Amino acid sequence: LPDEFLHAVPVIEQIEDAGFSAYFVGGSVRDFLLGAKIHDVDIATSAFPEEIKKIFPRTVDVGIEHGTVLVLSGGYQYEITTFRTESAYQDFRRPDSVTFVRTLAEDLKRRDFTMNALAMTKEGQIIDLFNGMQAISDKRIEAVGNAGERFHEDALRMLRGLRFASQLDFTLSESTLSAIYEHHKLLEKISVERINVEFVKMMQGINRHAGLLPFIASGCYRYCPDLADKSVQLLTLAGMQGPPIDSEELVWLLVCHVLEVKEVKQFLRHWKTSNKMMQQVDQALSALQFRLANDWTNSWLYRSGADNITLVESALTYCGKTGDAAGALSRYAALPIKKVQDLAVAGSDIMSATGKRGGPWLGKCIKELEQRVLTFQLENTYDALIDYATTRMEGEK
Ligand code: ATP
Ligand code: MG
Repeated sequence: LPDEFLHAVPVIEQIEDAGFSAYFVGGSVRDFLLGAKIHDVDIATSAFPEEIKKIFPRTVDVGIEHGTVLVLSGGYQYEITTFRTESAYQDFRRPDSVTFVRTLAEDLKRRDFTMNALAMTKEGQIIDLFNGMQAISDKRIEAVGNAGERFHEDALRMLRGLRFASQLDFTLSESTLSAIYEHHKLLEKISVERINVEFVKMMQGINRHAGLLPFIASGCYRYCPDLADKSVQLLTLAGMQGPPIDSEELVWLLVCHVLEVKEVKQFLRHWKTSNKMMQQVDQALSALQFRLANDWTNSWLYRSGADNITLVESALTYCGKTGDAAGALSRYAALPIKKVQDLAVAGSDIMSATGKRGGPWLGKCIKELEQRVLTFQLENTYDALIDYATTRMEGEK
């Protein structure tokens, strides 16, 4: 077994010593069988959350109402979730109440896809009740049981399926895909936050096209913020060439660019991204549009900053151009100033030298100083800047 699992074996043993059963489950088992990198190792158990908390001295309640306790052990952390079924479904959203059960089989049955419904013992023996291993070797995404029913229980599963198609470069089975075509409207009930997570993961997959195409064709896109009238641009996005997208910022930058989003902040607000993301992508999109038609100028380098310069250069690759982040960054490093505070004078210096009180003129004056220093028309020294500022104000009078 890979180290990620071996580290967790003592945790399973402790649960077993207390008289319960425990197994590795979910994405880690799937990724292990795929030979892919293993992220978090999740454990499912017959023990109830309170019983888990009695076994382990260091735990965190991360989702106790869903039966999940985070256990800290040996420098690692594991989400340990009690076997459960999902009973009362409301509004096709996540079930309001979960019912804890004592058997693994019942727990595996409520999982979304057969490839995700595998369990593994601490000895590495796979428990495969739904032919998940075959699905993995066929690279097939197949709902556990009746796909339509499963999507009624939780409509997000449709987007998860599309996301896995892109992430793993798998194909949705015919019945699962046709259930997505049939039930896409159920996504109406799903929160933007959950949709956002799956959409971003789909965009970051190794085969975006494999997820995006059925996402568009099935009509799922219509239930995502501000995408309803973007089918044509979405197809362009699906056809976009380039390596897997390595950051969330780059996802949103490319989405806003290809979808020709006019109001970036508003668009991202509808997607409930962070304010920081809105600011950064808004600025980067202007810079990208400039950069697509021109080489960087000192003024654009200054305005963008190192992070957005890197982001824009990465984005160029997906726009059929060649980026040169190293070249742009070395030009950025050579700028005489990086931020307004780097100017050799402050606003207060200008006010006392000109004998004028603050006002809109001051901001304009500082902008001019920045611009002239950046283009080497002025040296960044106190005397040169004050001299320019006072002469300029003379001219204004
Ligand atoms: P990732 O690599 O993105 O973490 P994952 O398969 O581990 O993929 P998670 O969201 O971490 O996905 O969920 C862990 C497991 O919980 C899944 O493998 C699946 O068995 C189950 N699961 C998660 N979300 C759902 C859902 N909406 N419906 C049914 N089962 C789900
Ligand atoms: Mg996971």
